[in-house]
Formats: sequence, C-alpha cells, structure tokens
Amino acid sequence: MTHHTPTAEQQAIIDAARDRSESILVRAYAGCAKSTTLEMLAHALPASPALALAFNKKIADELTKRFPPHFQIKTMNGLGHGAWSRAIGKRLILDDKKLGKLVSKVLTDSGFEASQDDWANIRALASRAMSLGLVPRPFTQRGLVEDSQETWRELSESLFGFYDATVDGGWAVPGEPYTNASDADGAKFEWWRARMLGGRTNHWGRISLRFGPHDFKGRSRDGLGDDWPIGYDDMKPYYDKLDELVGLFGTNEGLENEPDGIFLPPPAPRAYERLVKKASDKLNITCIPSRLSILTKAHNGRAACHYCGQCGRGCKTRSNFSSPSVLLPPALATNRLKIVTGAMAREVLTDDEGRATAVSYVDTATGKTEEVRAKIVVLAASACETARLLLNSKSARHPDGLANSSGTVGRYLTDTTGTSVQGHIPVLEGLPSYNDDGAGGMHVYMPWWLDNKKLDFPRGYHIEPWGGRDMPGYGFMSGIHKLNGGGYGKKLKDDYRRLYGSIVGFSGRGEMLPNKDCYCEIDPSVVDRYGIPVLRFHWKWSDGELNQARHMNETAARVIEAMGGKVVGKLPGKDKDYGLKLGGEIIHEAGTTRMGTSPRTSVVNEWCQAHDCKNLFVADSGPFVSNAHKNMTWTILALSMRTSEHIVEERRKGNL
Ligand SMILES: Cc1cc2nc3c(=O)[nH]c(=O)nc-3n(C[C@H](O)[C@H](O)[C@H](O)COP(=O)(O)OP(=O)(O)OC[C@H]3O[C@@H](n4cnc5c(N)ncnc54)[C@H](O)[C@@H]3O)c2cc1C
Ligand code: SF4
Repeated sequence: MTHHTPTAEQQAIIDAARDRSESILVRAYAGCAKSTTLEMLAHALPASPALALAFNKKIADELTKRFPPHFQIKTMNGLGHGAWSRAIGKRLILDDKKLGKLVSKVLTDSGFEASQDDWANIRALASRAMSLGLVPRPFTQRGLVEDSQETWRELSESLFGFYDATVDGGWAVPGEPYTNASDADGAKFEWWRARMLGGRTNHWGRISLRFGPHDFKGRSRDGLGDDWPIGYDDMKPYYDKLDELVGLFGTNEGLENEPDGIFLPPPAPRAYERLVKKASDKLNITCIPSRLSILTKAHNGRAACHYCGQCGRGCKTRSNFSSPSVLLPPALATNRLKIVTGAMAREVLTDDEGRATAVSYVDTATGKTEEVRAKIVVLAASACETARLLLNSKSARHPDGLANSSGTVGRYLTDTTGTSVQGHIPVLEGLPSYNDDGAGGMHVYMPWWLDNKKLDFPRGYHIEPWGGRDMPGYGFMSGIHKLNGGGYGKKLKDDYRRLYGSIVGFSGRGEMLPNKDCYCEIDPSVVDRYGIPVLRFHWKWSDGELNQARHMNETAARVIEAMGGKVVGKLPGKDKDYGLKLGGEIIHEAGTTRMGTSPRTSVVNEWCQAHDCKNLFVADSGPFVSNAHKNMTWTILALSMRTSEHIVEERRKGNL
C-alpha cells in the first residue's frame, strides 16, 4: 500500500483524531473519504480499532482487502445513507436530526458512547476536516458506486449540494429545520432554501419558459385541477417586458403552448446536442433551441456571455440572470431602495381592522426582534416560506393565520415531477479534443410534443438533455464501473479518456396536479433557532405523476437508442416509483397561496392581493393555480411585475 504523506494541516487533524472523541468522527467519516485519506488514516491510527463506512458490500470488500485488519469495515445498508451523503455534500450538518441518528447508530453499534461534549468536538473537527479536503465526498474515486438509481440520486444530490454555494443553505439550513409528517419514501418533501440576497436566482439553471395559453386554463381543457382567473393574454405583456428587460436567448417556433418571446439569438448546439436533435427528429419528438436567460449579445449595459460554462458559480460579467446582478443594481441606483439583510421575518402584524401594518423580524446578528412598518406588505419569501409567515401571523381578526379564512394557505402545494436517465453513446467515445464550451446550460431542449388524451397521465412534460465535454467537476464519471466494470491504474485512466463525453442524460420535467394529500402546515412542536414555528410537509404522488415518470424514462430510452446508445443501468421500475424524484426535489414548489376569484377557495385575487387583507400581496409562486411543466421562474417574475404595476396604479388612484 502506498503511504501518502499528509500535509502539516492534515497531520494536525490526524493528531487531533487520536483523542478519543475526535477519532470517533474521523473513523466514522473514513469510509466515505478519498482512498488516499483512508490510507493516511490507516497509517496514522495504527493501533486503535478504526471504523470505516462503505456504501455497499462491493466497496466494503474492496476496503477490507486494502486496509489493515484493525480497520473495521461496515456497510451503510439500512443506515439511511441519504442523510449521510447529503450531510457530507452540505459540508456538515451533524446537528441534523437524521444524521445525528445515523452517526449515533453507527457509533453505538461499534461500542462507542458519545457525550454532549463529544458531539461538540465532532462538529468542530468535521468542519475543519471538510475544509481541508480530508473528507471530500461520499464515494471512492475508483468508480465503486452502488449500481442503483437510488445511489445515483443521493450522489447527485450530494454533488449538487456541494457546489450550490449557498450561505448556510441548500437542502438543509442549520438551525432552521422543517419536518415531514411521514418519512416513508414518496411521502417526503425536500425543501431547498437559499438564505441570501437574491434567493435561489443565485443558483438557478436559467431555463426561462413562459407558461402557455393551455397552462392557465387546464380545467377548461381536461376537467382537472382549476383554471387561473387570468389567462396567457393577461400575462403576455409582462413576459414581453421581462424578455426586454432581462434578456434571454431562444427561437420563435410558433408552437401552440410554448409561446414565442423576444429572444436573443441562441448559441449553436454542441456536438452531442446535434445527435440529440437528429434522434428526436427521427422519433418525431420536437427538439428546439433552449430558452435560457443568458445574453448572447450585449444587452441593457450587460456584456454578452463569453461561454465559460461556469454559470453555476455566478457570472462576473453579469451575462446571466440573477436578481442581485440584474434587478437590484438599477433599483439601488434610484436611491429609493433600502435593503435590510440578516432579517428573518417572523410574522406580519395587523391592526384591529385586520390590515397589515408591519413585519416583525429577528435580526440574525443580534437575535433581537425588530419591526419594519409598512402601508403595503408584499411577501416574496418563496411559496412555502410565505405560507409559513402567513400561518404564523395569527391575530384576533385572523385566528387561523393571516389571509387564511379559506383554510387554503399551505394547501395545493405542488412541485415539478422529475426523472433522469443517462445513456452511453459509443459514437461519442474516444473523440479527438474539440470545443464543447457554451453557455451554462443546455443549448437544445424538447418541449411537450404529444397529445396526452391518448396517454395514461394528464398534462405533459419537457426534456432537458445534458452531457458533453465540459470541464470535469466533482463526481466526474463516477459511475464508470457501469461501463467498464471498474478497474485501476493506466487502464482505468485510458477508459476515462475514451469514455469522457460519451454519456448523455435526459431529465424529464413534468406537470403535477395539486392534490389534497400535498400541503404544508405549521408543526405544532418544532421551532427554528429563532423560536419561529416551522413547516411540516405532507406529500403523496398520484398515479398520474408516476405514469408520467415511466413515460419520461421510456422516451429517454428511445432517444438514447436512436442515438445508437444504451441506457446506463436499468430503468427504475414501479417499486422505485419509476425514479421519480421526491416532492420538492425539482425546487419548483408552488400553489400554497393560490389565486382565485372566490375568497372561500383561494388566498389571493387575480392581482395576488390577499382576499382577507387588502394591503397584503404575494409575489412568489404561492399564487400559482397550476404548475405547468415549464420551469416557473419566468412566470414568477412576470407575475410579480404585473402585481407591482397594479400596486402602483392602485396607489395612484388612492385605493391603497
Ligand atoms: C439549483 C437550482 C436550479 C434551478 N433552476 C431553475 C431553472 O432553470 N429555471 C427556473 O425557472 N427555475 C429554476 N430554479 C427555481 C428558481 O430558483 C426559483 O423558482 C426562484 O428562485 C423562486 O423565486 P422566489 O423569489 O419565489 O424564491 P427564492 O428565490 O427562494 O427567494 C426567496 C428570498 O426570500 C428570503 N427569505 C425566505 N424566508 C425569509 C424570511 N422568513 N425572512 C426574510 N427573508 C426570507 C430568502 O433568503 C430569499 O432571498 C432552480 C432552483 C435551484 C436551487
Ligand atoms: S457561461 Fe455563464 S458564467 Fe460564463 S460568461 Fe456565460 S453567462 Fe457568464
């Protein structure tokens, strides 16, 4: 076995690990660490029995072969490695309930006992170890990742979480939990939050799609769900203004339910995207240039994209859209905007008539409760957080929470459905170097192309293809053993070079209908670190969504085949919900303060103004009556622009 010499800083961690409580941590993390780290640890902790966790038996066997007998190898089966990998991906959330349970189970099984002090040490050491790269990721570098959709899901979540660059945010926010009424698979809702200025527009994928005429009037077309009180014609002027203000690329295609826009020219498709297009054409699947809010020409004082492909890290030239880089600078330039950061809103305060008068918030730096008074309150904290704020704003006039006389705040919660299938395309193997750079995201996509009257699910989905030879990142080709059976040394490196760029994936994103089993409410017994009651989620997919997921996978498989390739692994079956992501995982939650004409069945009116409280508005996806398969942010933006103009107009008329 090669002995890797630790750096001085790494050595300091290893030395610290000799202390009983800290070594518990290093041992518990070891199996998830880089094999070089394992080797280092095996040498550094020669005498004491050490515990390593392996994802599955295959990895456990491999580790057993490679490490000395005092290294006790345990598989993580049954230990809920989702919580584990997510925690590592998120850099450390050891105070997360699930992870705490997991680690204590591992430790208890191994005969360790951990005191409160131990846990504190564990937390401190883990964050240092993470920052030094001692514990980089929950899988080996040798491609030994369990051959299952489940592991892939966990893995991609973990990678996704690692690079999301939130400040204490992502799938878990330290000290700000939420709960699920059931932990059963398929009954869980995941909530991705970004506690930072500009929210999740700092992280989003920039896919900017308009809802179409059918999307606003679903019930009139198929009798399911409800119609919006507004239609596409009401929204079109705001989509147009938004296109002009922010800028996006795309093409006008004249498709009935994929409205044209005011587009900048799209970038040319990449090599693999040309194959996707060719295969789609063969199968009569519509495949068109994608629509991303990235500038392909200088626009409104912002520079054109220089195709570095690194949008996920923010754009220094402001060529893509995020609120802080595009909308806030001009607003600040008016000198009429004051931004108060580090303010955790607790509730909306109301007067005796039930009108909103102020928002109370916790100053996160001092912990003090403050108030900001207002004539008009606009909530835009994201659909679920807005619902939480309203439900926590109880008063004599609003005993069930503000704007909740209908009892529908938190109800009608939806997300987008999502699956992902990847294929190996031999014709893309072993190619000479070529330029696959481009804008940060796909250059082509497949909008919904079928008539679903003939299908066993309502509404539709679109497909987002991915692949290519962009800069390798974390987890790069981690499933290589599925293609080459695994391996070591030169052969493995050659295989990586040969196979690089030959994997193409297809992510389906579909419409979910609201149902009575999907909602959020206040958890009666859990508060966050500010003492604010948290949300509890209830979730259940219906057959429509499951059938849709199956159809997405089958379509992806057909396209892969038409590209001359093969699906990597097996398509997930019914027992695995056809690979359908958990509720909330596509990060398109909506509907919790839905819009409608009747105060008995909806929270806000067509202007996103609360029925019960005239000077209260909502400007996120809470008011969505349906959640079309189109990624929602363009509609949130256009709708909030419409709401803002209405507020200005009503103020001018003296009505507000
Ligand atoms: C990785 C990723 C990729 C995505 N890709 C796409 C895509 O390609 N296309 C698309 O359309 N959508 C995409 N989305 C979804 C998109 O980001 C969201 O739809 C959008 O950001 C929602 O906007 P919002 O203003 O409603 O909420 P957010 O963006 O979540 O903003 C809410 C803001 O409110 C603040 N806040 C929350 N609670 C409180 C409180 N109690 N007190 C004070 N402030 C509070 C938050 O800090 C945040 O700044 C993606 C999201 C992620 C995370
Ligand atoms: S690819 Fe993204 S980050 Fe890079 S220049 Fe273009 S918009 Fe900016």
